[in-house]
Amino acid sequence: MHDHDSHCIFCRIAKGEIPSRKVYEDEELFAFHDINPAAPVHFLLIPKQHIASMAQVTDEHAPLLGRMLALVPRLALEQGCKPFPDGGFRIMVNTGDEGGQEVHHLHLHVMGGPRPWRKG
Ligand code: 5GP
Ligand code: ZN
Repeated sequence: MHDHDSHCIFCRIAKGEIPSRKVYEDEELFAFHDINPAAPVHFLLIPKQHIASMAQVTDEHAPLLGRMLALVPRLALEQGCKPFPDGGFRIMVNTGDEGGQEVHHLHLHVMGGPRPWRKG
């Protein structure tokens, strides 16, 4: 598997080749608003490294995934999620066809805000 896949839409977004509404960027990670939000706050957090899905994740990715998860509380607050416990957010990682994954580059959905959206 290549580090960056020139045909992968999320690799291209992380490299700035396709525009997005950026939420965060550092050397390893990139976050941007979902183009079709399912909640008042809905952004995607991805590794810049091309990992196809959670199904490809192994121990070697643990520090990277740890960093991704640890970043979520800060970004969620910055994007307008109210603090815990009244506010909060949901993290979702769709994996594979039967897991509802459409873009084959690992991404965390972070969703929050007042919810008309369904629990379940
Ligand atoms: P999945 O179903 O793979 O978990 O989620 C893919 C998400 O990426 C969807 O929520 C979809 O709206 C979002 N998405 C797909 N293409 C683009 C794009 O070009 N730009 C942005 N910002 N979001 C995208
Ligand atoms: Zn990619």
